[in-house]
Amino acid sequence: MVVAILGGGQLARMLALAGLPLGLRFRCLDPAADAVAGHVAELVIGAYDDPAALARLADGARLVTFEFENVPIAATDWLGDHIAVAPTPRALAIGQDRLLEKQLFGTLGIGVPDYRTADSCAELHAAVVAVGLPCVVKTRRLGYDGRGQVRLAAGADAAAIDAAWAELDHPQHGGLIIEQFVAFDREVSVIAARGRNGEVAVYPLAENEHAGGILRRSRAPAPALPDAVERAAHELVRAALAHLDYVGVLTIELFVRGETLLANELAPRVHNSGHWTIEGSVCSQFENHLRAVLGFPLGSTAMAGGGVATMINLIGELPARGTLLGVPELHVHAYGKAPRPGRKLGHATAVGSDRAAVDAIAARIAGMPAAAPTDWGFAG
Ligand code: AMP
Repeated sequence: MVVAILGGGQLARMLALAGLPLGLRFRCLDPAADAVAGHVAELVIGAYDDPAALARLADGARLVTFEFENVPIAATDWLGDHIAVAPTPRALAIGQDRLLEKQLFGTLGIGVPDYRTADSCAELHAAVVAVGLPCVVKTRRLGYDGRGQVRLAAGADAAAIDAAWAELDHPQHGGLIIEQFVAFDREVSVIAARGRNGEVAVYPLAENEHAGGILRRSRAPAPALPDAVERAAHELVRAALAHLDYVGVLTIELFVRGETLLANELAPRVHNSGHWTIEGSVCSQFENHLRAVLGFPLGSTAMAGGGVATMINLIGELPARGTLLGVPELHVHAYGKAPRPGRKLGHATAVGSDRAAVDAIAARIAGMPAAAPTDWGFAG
């Protein structure tokens, strides 16, 4: 049984690595000839809007899923006429647009930071006044890993607002969204899978730490999270899954302030903040996504490996290979990507039963020397 995936990056690669033991095979479509899922799956090199490439992707496959949300809706619409597509393209459309996300959260009664939209520089000025400073200006579309957003500090003046407009205004961005800056206590994400029969399995929340807009560390279960917050997050992801009649894995990123949750964004896919589930859960987010979209029973989302997990992203450059592998408790995942500043090249996860001990193992990565250019051999 072949599963087709739009996108051939590390998420597609980890889907394939999770599905191979289930007897599945994979075919990915990616414009890049060096897309890293190609190491473990058949790779169709082509544009997402090329019907010939889409036809080759779908040929004989059981269904098509996707590993990132910026797939043209026209591609999933075209595929939908020929083959099953999951999750629903409606969720994809929502996940592509921060305004649609916020409207969905509003429909579900889920709180979001105060926000306004702006389609011109004058509207941006008015929106900043309405929302107040500090605030975060984001593109509605195509933002990721902190790209496509500008923070306006408490003292930002008119020139700073003009500069934000100049930086972010682009026809492909679909306008801007201006959010109140949330002085959150912590950021968490809730990841859940919903099967074709409506069965839902929710993972324990992870606490996520970002720097420069990029996820650096996820810890699960989120340390010392009030039960009420955990329960509220499970309820809201269940509400979103039911509302969308969703099939597959869905992620919602949340800000926590006291016992209040505010939704930040939604990803209709497996998520970086769930990589810890590979070793930290009985059934990983990747396997559960495949089980869900293929109509099989879901696997357990209970913690495994001792009950505590910490994941560290390896960004920009990998640590020296021998040093990283020299920590025997670490589970190392190198994606096979050439080093580049800000690029997610891999991750490593520590699991165990003691929060402090697991964090200490993961923290050893920070002190490691960078790999020499030939060390891992991922040329760019
Ligand atoms: P995003 O691309 O929306 O997930 O933003 C990336 C990161 O920027 C988030 O994970 C937060 O750490 C931070 N961030 C985004 N929006 C806000 C906000 N409204 N208030 C405070 N921090 C934010």
